[in-house]
Amino acid sequence: MKNITVIGAGTMGNGIAHVFAMHGHEVQLADVSHQALDKALGTIAKNLDRMVAKEKITAGDKAKALQNITTHTEIAEAVNRAGLVVEAATEQVDLKLDLFRKMDAHAPEDAILATNTSSISITQIAAATRRPAQVIGMHFMNPVPVMKLVEVIRGYATADEVTRKVMDMAQNLGKIPVEVNDYPGFISNRILMPMLNEAIYSLFEGVAGVEEIDTVMKLGMAHPMGPLELADFIGLDVCHAILEVLYAGFGNPKYAPCPLLVNMVTAGKLGRKSGEGFYVYEAGSKEKKVAPAFAKD
Ligand code: NAD
Repeated sequence: MKNITVIGAGTMGNGIAHVFAMHGHEVQLADVSHQALDKALGTIAKNLDRMVAKEKITAGDKAKALQNITTHTEIAEAVNRAGLVVEAATEQVDLKLDLFRKMDAHAPEDAILATNTSSISITQIAAATRRPAQVIGMHFMNPVPVMKLVEVIRGYATADEVTRKVMDMAQNLGKIPVEVNDYPGFISNRILMPMLNEAIYSLFEGVAGVEEIDTVMKLGMAHPMGPLELADFIGLDVCHAILEVLYAGFGNPKYAPCPLLVNMVTAGKLGRKSGEGFYVYEAGSKEKKVAPAFAKD
């Protein structure tokens, strides 16, 4: 699996391409948007520069990693020599099903098709292809070059051999893979999202303010970020979509997204990426303050 294709060059795709390229793989990075590809190459170069400055890699390693990446806008061309394809495109079921049909049609017969989805069923994605035994979840964490975990998700039909190869590959990238079965939210989001939703409910019901809730979880539970700050970081639309998947998948009202979260998403307050969520963020600054809707007099 020397030749890797990464589909989607957004937040996750650029990090995944970075890590494979750093480990000597030839990476075909594909996106529908030229702008996303240019931005991804810029981000990868900047992140590699940071590693050079910290003396984790040499300037030569950086140049080699960048040379390993080729960009594409055509899926057929991007996957036609791949041993492993990692799909990291937008989190929409129909879009992913369509992409997997295309990947299946154009990738070599023995290629493994992986998805970085946060919540969509691997079994459902696999069923859209003629090779369900070779379809698997490879769930990297954000930011990919920094975070050690890769959640490896076995669909209903995923072969043992395919799981073993993907676990080995994650380890070769310096990551720690954990194998889980394909049920809504896998492990990471099944546990994380109800906690974030409960923090939003606590705010909604007036139990405490934004900073108080985050401080309790940071200082009391040793979490590096409070749950409301983390929800803003992930994106409130993403949190909302994952809770909907958990709610639909289990049919249990305990997963229903808090009405405050629904309202904020409807109003376009999506967290860090839109500049405002539970906190307000100034462009280009790490500073944040509680959003006016939740500020105390
Ligand atoms: P993003 O919006 O930053 O990037 C998605 C990219 O996919 C965009 O550049 C878009 O142009 C591209 N795209 C859309 N349709 C495409 C198509 N048909 N072919 C090729 N490219 C296409 O999204 P992201 O945050 O990088 O998320 C990507 C995937 O990773 C999602 O499945 C998401 O659930 C998952 N994920 C995200 C995070 C996170 O923290 N952001 C963490 C783990 C997993």
